[in-house]
Amino acid sequence: MPQWPWLHPASAAARRATPSVFRRRRCSSVCASAHSNHAREQEDEKSLVVVGGGAAGVYASIRAKTLAPHLNVVVIEKGKFLSKVRISGGGRCNVTNGHHLEPSGLARNYPRGHKELRGSFFNTHGPRDTMRWFSDHGVELKTEDDGRVFPVTDNSASVVDCLLNEARRLGVSLQAGKSVSSASVNNDGKFVLKVEKRTVDFVDYLNANYVLVATGSSQQGYSFAAQHGHTVIPPVPSLFTFKIADKRLADLSGVTFTKVKAKLMLDSIQKKAPELTQTGPLLVTHWGLSGPVVLRLSAWGARELYQDKYQAKLMIDFIPDIHIEDVKRIIFQHKDKHAKNKVNNSFPTEFGLVKRFWRFLLEQESLDGDMHWATVPKNHLNAIALRLKQWMFEVVGKGQFKDEFVTAGGVPLSEISLSTMESKQQPNLFFAGEVLNVDGVTGGFNFQNAWTGGYIAGTSIGTLASSSNLERHACLQLEAS
Ligand SMILES: Cc1cc2nc3c(=O)[nH]c(=O)nc-3n(C[C@H](O)[C@H](O)[C@H](O)COP(=O)(O)OP(=O)(O)OC[C@H]3O[C@@H](n4cnc5c(N)ncnc54)[C@H](O)[C@@H]3O)c2cc1C
Repeated sequence: MPQWPWLHPASAAARRATPSVFRRRRCSSVCASAHSNHAREQEDEKSLVVVGGGAAGVYASIRAKTLAPHLNVVVIEKGKFLSKVRISGGGRCNVTNGHHLEPSGLARNYPRGHKELRGSFFNTHGPRDTMRWFSDHGVELKTEDDGRVFPVTDNSASVVDCLLNEARRLGVSLQAGKSVSSASVNNDGKFVLKVEKRTVDFVDYLNANYVLVATGSSQQGYSFAAQHGHTVIPPVPSLFTFKIADKRLADLSGVTFTKVKAKLMLDSIQKKAPELTQTGPLLVTHWGLSGPVVLRLSAWGARELYQDKYQAKLMIDFIPDIHIEDVKRIIFQHKDKHAKNKVNNSFPTEFGLVKRFWRFLLEQESLDGDMHWATVPKNHLNAIALRLKQWMFEVVGKGQFKDEFVTAGGVPLSEISLSTMESKQQPNLFFAGEVLNVDGVTGGFNFQNAWTGGYIAGTSIGTLASSSNLERHACLQLEAS
């Protein structure tokens, strides 16, 4: 483990045994000649404390330390490092998305952030850069048909191990099980962070020149932001499944549809909202509807759904590629051709429906499965066609907590410089990841926001620290000459 450059070797071991504290020494001008060069080097070491050891925090710490090896970088994590990365994507970790590589197209996948992120943000570090970074660091990735990118191992541990090993190799101090409970600025403009351990009676104070808040959706992160003059857009859940008020749906539990078109209708949205119509796979669960199409709708409607207490209407077109008139025509042609067959056993294959769903449709029309096609009244067949094209469901709630993947809300992007991730309210305070009012739909977009924000913040802090280091060396040289 590399030693802290500002510690004497003899005291380093002792210091490592106890929580490290950036003891603030009195900072004099870099060119003051009263100190030895060694003493001044210690005094002028810059420090970064990253609050939160998730994707954004760890990625940022690596970037900052890569650019400024002399910078003391500590990441404080209240739980376990990269715990969400570990459980993400069903344990496989959907690292990013390989189908949306250009900033403007990519940004369209962020219900909060789609306008702000289409410029320099993803241009600086987009999915291609993320993929290159991981492959350069030994994690081979693959892009699946739907664009989701995973490690070829199908194991998130590859991503977690890579990030933690790289951080350790560079000399980032990773401190787990400690929580930053407050962050203030002292008279010298330095941050003083109060660090606590939940399990034992432990309080420590860290001083830092730079602080990166990468706390995800934790309440503490929002409190830090508010403490430093930021507003916080109230957090609400995004990416959840829909609870549907139709007990009969339970009979279809487990049935999937590869492509449906679903339109979400909310009382609080009267205007046209194209994002509230989505096309994609749908899954029926024992208590409602799920799958990418529902998750996307939940994200685009997250705020309004919250406002409307998760009461909405959902209209589903189960065969979006076939026009209603053609659906009717196909059904009536089938009736003529299969007049002597039982409706239960014979149905139009053009719709790509599974038998279970067809039988379910018959039940909805109170049709006996043993009746022959010839005897089915015309109005029932028209009704089946209508159901297939515009079945209305009542959404009466959202899925349980475990289905929630991200939080909409947080620090508004207008209060952050997106080219540096620095706060516009407080110099040297940075934000990255989910703590900001950014969230994406499923498909690797949420991690991409964390990697990009972390990379930009790490670059800004590393550059600031390096330039102050260069300045100091220039002074020392000037003094020596
Ligand atoms: C089950 C699940 C699966 C997901 N799967 C995917 C996926 O496959 N692809 C994808 O793109 N997105 C996925 N997401 C979303 C993704 O995990 C998040 O968007 C992403 O982790 C955000 O990164 P972050 O670093 O901003 O926040 P987090 O990963 O939440 O990290 C923040 C960290 O800060 C720590 N912390 C908070 N407050 C403090 C404090 N005061 N002191 C110290 N530490 C603190 C927390 O313990 C946490 O570890 C998934 C989310 C969940 C819940």
